[in-house]
Amino acid sequence: MRAVIGCSPEEAVAQLKQGNPVALPTETVYGLAAPLWDEDAILKVYALKQRPSNNPLIVHVLDECQLKRVAHVNAQAAKLVNVFWPGPLTLILPKKPCVPLIVTAQQSSVAVRAPNAPLFRKVLELLGMPLVAPSANKFQQVSPTCAQHVMHGMGDTLSYILDGGLCPLGIESTILSLLDEQHPTLLRYGPIPKEALEDVLKHSVHISPADTSDHATKLCPGLFKKHYSPHTPLYLVDKLQGFKPPQHLEQQFHQQAAYVFFTRPHRTLTGKEFYLTENEDLTEAAANLFATLQDLDQGHFKSIWIETVPHQGIGCAINDRLNRAAHDRFL
Ligand code: AMP
Ligand code: MG
Repeated sequence: MRAVIGCSPEEAVAQLKQGNPVALPTETVYGLAAPLWDEDAILKVYALKQRPSNNPLIVHVLDECQLKRVAHVNAQAAKLVNVFWPGPLTLILPKKPCVPLIVTAQQSSVAVRAPNAPLFRKVLELLGMPLVAPSANKFQQVSPTCAQHVMHGMGDTLSYILDGGLCPLGIESTILSLLDEQHPTLLRYGPIPKEALEDVLKHSVHISPADTSDHATKLCPGLFKKHYSPHTPLYLVDKLQGFKPPQHLEQQFHQQAAYVFFTRPHRTLTGKEFYLTENEDLTEAAANLFATLQDLDQGHFKSIWIETVPHQGIGCAINDRLNRAAHDRFL
C-alpha cells in the first residue's frame, strides 16, 4: 500500500469508518488517528507505530462536552480548559469506564486534549466521536510536521494522509497531570509553559523527574530518555560558536557533519550550517526543529551537532526534545 496525500476531511472520515488509521494534521505535529471506540483500529495504530502497548495514547476531543464523556473533570481542569482549549495542552484525568483500557495502557487515568487545527476539528465533527492520535511516526523517531514527512516515515503502511500543510507549533503538546488537584504535575514540556499554567491555576506546578526511573516512565511513558531521535547520531552542545570537540570526537565533528545553530550564525564556515530561527524567536525555532532534523536525517550527514536554546518558555520544550534526541551525547 502507498498512502494517498489529500485535502479531504470527508475521505479521512470514510477511511476511519472502514477501520483504517489515517494521518491527520494538528497544530503540534501530525497524528495517526483511530476512533476511540474501534479497538481493532487502535491495535493497528500500535502496530504501525511499533509502539509498546504500555505507552498510552492521547484522546483528542472536540470540546468540553466530549471531554466529560471520557474523563472526570475537576475544578482545576475546568479552569485550564477554559483558557487553553482548543490548543496544545493535554490533561491527565481520571478516566470514565467507556474509555478502552488499551488506550490508557491499563491505567485508570486518561490523557485528553482538544486540538485547534481546523482540518482535525472537521474530522472530529464529521465523525462525532473522539479520536486517539499519537504522533504519526515510528516509535522513538522524530515527529512529523508535514504530510511529506509522514509519507517518508510510514507512507507504505497507510491509506490516507490528510494534508494540512506545516504544523504551526511543531512540537508536541504540554502534558499536565491533574490526578491530584493539589499537586498539578508537568509530565512533558510543550508549547504552553509551566508559568502560564501556574498563572491560571493560581498554584505551583511540579515537574516530574525527567529520568528513566521506573516511577517516571510509568507515570508518563513519553519520558523514555531516548525519544524523538533521528537515525543520524546527534550531539548536543551548549554553544556551537567556539566549540571545540574532545579529541576522540574531532574526526566526527569535522567530517560530513551538519551544525544547527539556534539563530543565524554571524559567519558560515563550511556551508553546512543551519539555524532554527532568523531572529531569536523561540516559537519559530520550535516550529522548525523537527522539520530541520527530518531534513538533515534524510541528507548525507554522518553526524548532527546542535546547540541548546535559551531555557525559557517554549525553549524548555525544545531543550527537552534535544536532550532526548541526543540521548547521552551531551557535550
Ligand atoms: P504522544 O506520544 O505524543 O502521543 O503522547 C502520548 C504520551 O502521553 C504518552 O507517551 C504518555 O507520556 C502520555 N500519556 C498518555 N496517557 C497517559 C496517562 N494516562 N497517564 C500519563 N501519561 C499519559
Ligand atoms: Mg510521539
